[in-house]
Amino acid sequence: MADCVFCKISAGEIPSKKVYEDDKVLAFYDLDPQAPVHVLIIPKEHIASADELTEENSGVVSHIFLVAARLAKELGLKNGYRIVNNCGEDGGQTVKHLHFHLLGGRSMKWPPG
Ligand code: AMP
Ligand code: ZN
Repeated sequence: MADCVFCKISAGEIPSKKVYEDDKVLAFYDLDPQAPVHVLIIPKEHIASADELTEENSGVVSHIFLVAARLAKELGLKNGYRIVNNCGEDGGQTVKHLHFHLLGGRSMKWPPG
């Protein structure tokens, strides 16, 4: 997707602070962290949101959760963490490329705002 900021990060056209990369996914630090640890995990394939997942493209989501759990260990989130996906306007999604926030290093509140 030509004008997608996360596709550009994935292609190396916009810089990011990478935490993890493989052939399917990329993880990098959020520019505007909402917790001491705030990493975004994205599929390299452009999927606009969780609402655009299909039988064909959804395998990457389980991979993202495995990567999130591995990163949480590596980043020292011994006391737990939160994985967030914002979907659509009411969900608070601002970047229209599927991504999961891995947040940790502080106690989280519920319900979210
Ligand atoms: P969401 O509101 O769920 O769509 O989350 C988008 C997230 O992307 C926000 O937390 C932004 O701070 C983050 N973000 C936007 N642009 C960049 C960027 N170039 N590098 C890192 N994080 C970004
Ligand atoms: Zn994209």
